[in-house]
Amino acid sequence: LIDGQMVDDHQITVCVRKRPLSRKELNRKEIDVISVPRKDVLMVHEPRTKVDLTKFLENHKFRFDYAFNDTCDNAVVYRYTAKPLVKTIFEGGMATCFAYGQTGSGKTHTMGGEFKGKVQDCKNGIYAMAAKDVFVTLNGPRYRSLNLVVSASFFEIYSGKVFDLLADKQKLRVLEDGKQQVQVVGLTEKVVDSVEEVLSLIQHGNAARTSGQTSANSNSSRSHAVFQIVLRPMGSTKIHGKFSFIDLAGNERGVDTSSADRQTRMEGAEINKSLLALKECIRALGKQSAHLPFRVSKLTQVLRDSFIGEKSKTCMIAMISPGLSSCEHTLNTLRYADRVKEL
Ligand code: ADP
Ligand code: MG
Repeated sequence: LIDGQMVDDHQITVCVRKRPLSRKELNRKEIDVISVPRKDVLMVHEPRTKVDLTKFLENHKFRFDYAFNDTCDNAVVYRYTAKPLVKTIFEGGMATCFAYGQTGSGKTHTMGGEFKGKVQDCKNGIYAMAAKDVFVTLNGPRYRSLNLVVSASFFEIYSGKVFDLLADKQKLRVLEDGKQQVQVVGLTEKVVDSVEEVLSLIQHGNAARTSGQTSANSNSSRSHAVFQIVLRPMGSTKIHGKFSFIDLAGNERGVDTSSADRQTRMEGAEINKSLLALKECIRALGKQSAHLPFRVSKLTQVLRDSFIGEKSKTCMIAMISPGLSSCEHTLNTLRYADRVKEL
């Protein structure tokens, strides 16, 4: 892999990341059905049975910009996904980085870091690594003269509603003016001068996100978390560039709807709708398409300005669990990511 360069000229980068089998999965002898034979190829080896009951493996091959094996750490993933997009926001563009996949596949681990309650925990997540590079670039020779001010916000979209993770999960309204400019009214945007300040915001937001939940029935798996870094010229309200990081809701809803109660089904439908709209919006990135389904979901509505404009860049990291029991969800994830790619 050559450092960040290869994805530089793509508007859309789509990658896949395989997490290692967890201790629990190893203990119950879960089989690993994923292999990464090349840096851009990932295979799913699905065990199947013929009508005459003989067993065979159906091999599914997927090609992406990068395929990260379970030996890659967050720093490597960051280097080939979000890192090349830091430059984009300094050059006046919009950048987005999505973590997509089923619950438990590693989205939050990749984006927010290993959160266990301490500030240090989020240091190795993509949010924090990107924030660090934003400050390095800000103070570097190339962009220093722009006198840009950095601010950050962190919110959650749950069941089509927006909640401020930096203000006790206060519910916020989304307004769209006549020029289709979208605004999250009252969203906390903290001016930040250092990585340490950003880390403390991330920690605060992560804690708000996960508080009062058990992992088995966690709201965080049913909500999209959006962390944003905004650049503005000093003394101006106009946005120079914006980087949005989205830890998407688990995409497994809608696959198994039979057992769920009504509330869960509604949430599932909402998540499905937003993920389908998202796919369409990413595919059309930067193109002049008046008919894009921005309004279909809160997620695509609040990210509208990141999808339009020639300077917009997006990367998607499709996360997958390696175990046999996740095989169906994994194939769904890979097929979705496949269709997001530029044609
Ligand atoms: P998600 O946010 O997609 O639901 P998490 O990020 O919470 O999934 O990951 C589920 C579990 O797997 C967590 O305990 C996390 O620490 C672990 N995990 C995820 N990705 C990795 C990885 N690449 N290496 C080691 N552990 C991981
Ligand atoms: Mg998560």
